[in-house]
Amino acid sequence: MLDYSSLGLKVGLELHQQLDTKHKLFCGCPTKLRDDEPDVKFLRRLRPTQSELGQVDEAALFEFKRGRRYLYESYDDSVCLVEMDEEPPHDVNQEALDIALEVALLLKAKPVDQVCVMRKVVIDGSNTTGFQRTLLVAIGGPEAVVEDEEGPVRIETICVEEDAARKMGELEDAVQYRLDRLGIPLVEVATAPEIKSPEQARRVALKIGRLLRATGKVKRGLGTIRQDLNVSIKDGARIEIKGVQDLDLLPKIIEFEVVRQLNLLKIAEELKRRGVTPSDLNYAFADVTELFRNTKSKVLLGGLRKGWRILAVKLPGFAGLVGREIQPGRRLGTELKDYAVFWGGVQGIFHTDELPGYGVSPEEVEALREELKAGELDAVVFTVAPLSKAEEALKAVVDRAKQAVQGVPEETRSANPDGTTKYSRPRPGAARMYPETDVRPITITEERLKKIKEALPELPEQKFKRFVEELKLNPELAEAMLRSKKLELFEKIVSQVKVPPVLVASTLEYTLKGLKREGFAVDTLSDEVLMELFKELEAGHMSKEAIPDVLKWLLSNPGLGVAEALRSLGLRLLALDELERIVESIVEDNKELLARKGERAVKPLIGEVMKHVRGRADGKIVSMLVSKAVENRLKKTSL
Ligand SMILES: [Zn+2]
Repeated sequence: MLDYSSLGLKVGLELHQQLDTKHKLFCGCPTKLRDDEPDVKFLRRLRPTQSELGQVDEAALFEFKRGRRYLYESYDDSVCLVEMDEEPPHDVNQEALDIALEVALLLKAKPVDQVCVMRKVVIDGSNTTGFQRTLLVAIGGPEAVVEDEEGPVRIETICVEEDAARKMGELEDAVQYRLDRLGIPLVEVATAPEIKSPEQARRVALKIGRLLRATGKVKRGLGTIRQDLNVSIKDGARIEIKGVQDLDLLPKIIEFEVVRQLNLLKIAEELKRRGVTPSDLNYAFADVTELFRNTKSKVLLGGLRKGWRILAVKLPGFAGLVGREIQPGRRLGTELKDYAVFWGGVQGIFHTDELPGYGVSPEEVEALREELKAGELDAVVFTVAPLSKAEEALKAVVDRAKQAVQGVPEETRSANPDGTTKYSRPRPGAARMYPETDVRPITITEERLKKIKEALPELPEQKFKRFVEELKLNPELAEAMLRSKKLELFEKIVSQVKVPPVLVASTLEYTLKGLKREGFAVDTLSDEVLMELFKELEAGHMSKEAIPDVLKWLLSNPGLGVAEALRSLGLRLLALDELERIVESIVEDNKELLARKGERAVKPLIGEVMKHVRGRADGKIVSMLVSKAVENRLKKTSL
């Protein structure tokens, strides 16, 4: 177990939540994702845009030079010229701005007087413009904190942003994006880097996410909320990790990042001990293609057949360290590879810590070491690629190795599904933000804020309290309801139908989950049909015991309603007089039992009646009717 406080862990969160607005942030297109075939596809290259100060983002320039192309997919009826960057943006979507202001007020942040649109350079083609538009809506303040058991965490900023295009895949020479998502409004909530442990990060993210959902105006489901985090430890570096979708993965990602930084620091220490300095590492590449003419390595052979070259570089003092694990399943060599792939566009690298192996023979390794004049403590890295790519790749490897001597380099990384992370690009410089001149600024008036303030929704904490105290849910169920996608439906049912809230909550939460585990597609049940279920219950047409069977029937008979289910299953409750007749006749049939046992016959008689009317009568009513019938008979006989 790591001692995070003595390691000086600091984590800041940025939550991005899609808003459920009628249309996009800068045009009238709908905010819906599409899975059908796009109508149009077009290829583009992005040009790095200059900021007002004439600076160009280095990584943006690099992507441009690399000649990356982007294939955009579009729809005639739900994407317009704005997303295609053929037309300037329209005025800001006021609905989105209102929601962001509502979030700001809920978080007790301070809205700005005037909202201006800024451009943030984006280099990966996910925006057709080459930048993302962002609007600062509110800044933190003394009261804008998320309370937590490990201490409060301040909110720093609340912004509205346009979502990026959706990455659909990578082709040989282009990245494929779909424009349906581009321009959907996002609210971004950023905390100060005051989170002190991985678990605290999860709790804080959960709390903010819940507050966003309290507005009832955000999208739900996978991919609608994404988190960026920055993580640093004492003597380490500030690392940005982008696009985490699974909240439960947050603690693991942070833990693994701390482990990575600690291991990189240990490697730096060891390199220092070995007397390695950054100036020992240089771009002295050797073309070792001929050494591998007869190699059995499939990767190398494949490259050689295409006429590619094998280029190698010596990393003095790195022997044993390139192969050292720094995160589960990831080595320093993996970090070097990530750089080589990003900057050189190569497929991968080989290094002597993992050789002989992968088809490379001991003789080849020896010849390689000799060629590079590599001693015992030196490592050799090589790659196979077209010459210019191989050079760029090895330059990146050398640059990264130089940083390894110093410790942890500042980077932007992306999360892998197992919680480890990989290099995605350098940290952006200050040149990244500049004003958008195509959209007018908006003054936030007092009246506007007052109107929003008056209609603020109940906070999640207040809701929890009300669920427990007024609706009598136990804390566990109340908690589950707050997290549930069915929260709104739950509140609607409870406000319209007189059935115990506990029954509604446990049906929506436990019964449906149980059916899901059995393989039923419970998500296909409409809110209307669930509402009908509880209305039938309220009307006394069914017993609560019949709920699971009715739900199963509805799931197997889509399009039909609860009344049909009850009829078809024979679960429609018996009318009271019908039930009385059945009770009478069963008591009559068992009069010997009654004579023998007297009042003690009530229990077995209830059992007998229930067997007969299973699912068609409420147990409590049966029990009452049987008791009454028995009492009457016993009175008669004693007379
Ligand atoms: Zn549009």
